[in-house]
Amino acid sequence: MAKRDYYDVLGVDKNASKDEIKKAYRKLSKKYHPDINKEDGADQKFKEVSEAYEALSDDNKRAQYDRFGHEGMNQQFGGGGGGFSGSGGFGGFEDIFSSFFGGGGRMDPNAPRKGDDLQYTMTVTFDEAVFGVTKTITIKKEVTCETCDGNGAKPGTSKTTCKMCSGAGRVAVEQNTPFGRIQTERTCPTCNGTGEEIEDPCDNCKGAGTVTKDVKIEVTVPEGVDNGQQIRLQGKGEPGVNGGPAGDLYIVFRVKPDTRFTRDGDDIHYELPISFAQAALGDEIKVPTIHAEVVLTIPSGTQSGKRFRLKEKGVKNVHGYGYGDQFVTIKVVTPTKLSDKEVDIFRQLAEHGGEEINEQNENFFDKTRRFFKGD
Ligand SMILES: [Zn+2]
Ligand SMILES: [Zn+2]
Repeated sequence: MAKRDYYDVLGVDKNASKDEIKKAYRKLSKKYHPDINKEDGADQKFKEVSEAYEALSDDNKRAQYDRFGHEGMNQQFGGGGGGFSGSGGFGGFEDIFSSFFGGGGRMDPNAPRKGDDLQYTMTVTFDEAVFGVTKTITIKKEVTCETCDGNGAKPGTSKTTCKMCSGAGRVAVEQNTPFGRIQTERTCPTCNGTGEEIEDPCDNCKGAGTVTKDVKIEVTVPEGVDNGQQIRLQGKGEPGVNGGPAGDLYIVFRVKPDTRFTRDGDDIHYELPISFAQAALGDEIKVPTIHAEVVLTIPSGTQSGKRFRLKEKGVKNVHGYGYGDQFVTIKVVTPTKLSDKEVDIFRQLAEHGGEEINEQNENFFDKTRRFFKGD
């Protein structure tokens, strides 16, 4: 395929000024850039446009081309049949392109943006977590300035058009490149791209539009919430920018441990100390739960470490999936000090050691039970 004339490629006259060539190149490179144009052949066109621009933007190369055509260009660069083929030799090209378009990731400073999210760690007691509670917290956060209503300008005045960029938000910058001086754009440093200036800033917020304030927020701690869980309070974060929605406030819960109960998810664990006699003879014992006392029947011969389950006496599931259970683990407490009478009884007990409870010794056990119960 024959190479097209560089002037035809850029669609400019043979006598086009450097400025016209630059404008034509900018327009076409935008149109055919492979990141923008996904059509077949667009990247070929892009290469063609780039090649034409590199030749015509340089006075010496342009003169060479005008005189010898494509042939002259090949000689000039000694590329042995096309110094522009492929991507070699175009090292600086992407850089220029990205400076035209700000690298592709530029944000419109006037677009509405959601405010920042905030996080607050709230410490609650064991009971507050189990049963839920409503508490008021105080947090320091950015709020819209009431004096200027977030505008930043002193009441009665208004923002003016930025003088540096005439409201465009962008300013032209001359840049030296391997292809000559190229005019690129940058965010206006005076107005940070907003195109507006505050001549008379609001006294309260110094033109920021927001102020830091202690804000009281009512937090409903959900029933059954557990250590480390969080809730989201929509719109309670930092205020939005340019009319965007406010951010959210995340409350992370830290639950203080309880002296009696240990929590494992929705289940509650409780250790019940019982006497040697209660373990041996069995008993009915009132056991505390997080709800109300429950009478637990301990069968005779209960071993230390034995676990009983009190169904649905645990924590209400925070998502509403019923209740957990309470597990009661028995701990047999061996007496450390014995009265003479007790010593006597334990002696008798030792003589019976290992025997099964039967008709013969039941009388003894009855006596022991009455003794420990104080009957
Ligand atoms: Zn203000
Ligand atoms: Zn400006």
